[in-house]
Amino acid sequence: MSNWISWQDHCPYCGEPIELLLDPGVADPGMSLTYIEDCQVCCRPIVVMLHVDEHGNHDCQLKMESDS
Ligand SMILES: [Zn+2]
Repeated sequence: MSNWISWQDHCPYCGEPIELLLDPGVADPGMSLTYIEDCQVCCRPIVVMLHVDEHGNHDCQLKMESDS
């Protein structure tokens, strides 16, 4: 059983506050994971870059899909 982590940020498209639920099981400590999550407000695809450090702390960055 995993403890889902609530992560609050703002949509890079519409700027509305959104909440992501991160599954701590998807990335091992020291690893990064990138995936797409649709904005709950404007439904555009947000690139979510999830990083878990060696202590198990999560950090999350949201980007527009077209950013490089
Ligand atoms: Zn949005």
